[in-house]
Amino acid sequence: MKPICKLEHRFVDSFPDKLETGVLYIALDFATMSHLCCCGCSQEVITPMSPKDWKIIFDGETITVHPSIGNWSLPCRSHYFIRDGNIKWANNWNDEKIRDVREQDVFAKRGISDVVQVQKKFPNREHDYKVISFFARIKKFFMGQ
Ligand SMILES: [Zn+2]
Repeated sequence: MKPICKLEHRFVDSFPDKLETGVLYIALDFATMSHLCCCGCSQEVITPMSPKDWKIIFDGETITVHPSIGNWSLPCRSHYFIRDGNIKWANNWNDEKIRDVREQDVFAKRGISDVVQVQKKFPNREHDYKVISFFARIKKFFMGQ
């Protein structure tokens, strides 16, 4: 299967047993999205929506998802953005970078006072509290929660 470049959104009450490729299912009642990985591997990707998880912007025609979708727990490790229904591919993170994220998440769990330490450790990256909560989200993928 080839990577896909667009996701059509579908608001649903519940997810169908068999997801269609190229469709982003959005169950507002459950604040959850689901789609088949856009790399073409057809693994199911479940994405929770909350102030600390992913957010969607619906402009009346297309969906934008924030932040990016990083499928680190899948063999393909695909990483992409969903912008206006289009897939924008991001760089695949290597093991070292994923390990960095895990380390940073240790700080994230301790709370905002440790953000400064993270900034010292990773001076080249943008680190505000929002970014830290992003790493907490990434961890959910690692832990399979
Ligand atoms: Zn994939």
